[in-house]
Amino acid sequence: MIFHVLTIFPEFFRGPFEYGVVSRAVQTNKIQIRIHDLRQWTFDRHRSVDDRPFGGGEGMLMKPEPIFLAAQAILPQKSDNKKIALMSAQGRLFDQATARRWSALDELLLICGRYEGVDERVAQNLVDEETSIGDFVVSGGELPAALIIDAVARLVPGVLGNEASSENESFSTGLLDCPQFTRPADFRGHAVPEVLLGGNHEEIRKWRHETALAKTAKHRPDLLKKI
Ligand code: SAH
Repeated sequence: MIFHVLTIFPEFFRGPFEYGVVSRAVQTNKIQIRIHDLRQWTFDRHRSVDDRPFGGGEGMLMKPEPIFLAAQAILPQKSDNKKIALMSAQGRLFDQATARRWSALDELLLICGRYEGVDERVAQNLVDEETSIGDFVVSGGELPAALIIDAVARLVPGVLGNEASSENESFSTGLLDCPQFTRPADFRGHAVPEVLLGGNHEEIRKWRHETALAKTAKHRPDLLKKI
């Protein structure tokens, strides 16, 4: 799968993909990550990507033309297997189901906004999805894009060594993951639940399901309503 990122800060992406699962996926060619500098598609003296908002108001907006030109150059042939998503606090919430859906794509282009956001015609006429990473505002689409690439890449077939490990984790079952423990069995007087030390697999399976349910009810009751 090929991930494309369109940004005015290409250097931003030097760090995030150089560790662990994602870095290994790049090295083994399971995924490619291509960072595109939006200013390549500006042709004025100042290479400007922003302008003042119509109707007045604070700050600057990213203008449509460089973004349209870039998207057309990066994905000249759109198809069901190639999608464009705009990073936006006004978007639909990104979740594990979206990550799974996108992990089957051939190519995904993520457009990063900055300033006060992006001219609405990009959302209306260019992209397939307008996507938010949560109910809060960050100052640019770069962190959201990096986060989405990480979440999608680990679901691309062959990226996680043990395929089962993405099936049993938080959200895939509809619940949060169960609590996990490692050695020592007694840490500063806090003991690991007895059942995990016993080796009775059926008991352990039951305990894991019950504690996953309890943790979901405590932290994310909204998830329980969905299942
Ligand atoms: N004025 C906008 C916020 C602009 S923040 C608003 O109130 O909705 C600048 C850029 O950061 C946005 O264009 C978007 O690309 C990115 N961004 C900010 N919050 C985000 C979020 N929750 N999810 C995804 N992208 C976000």
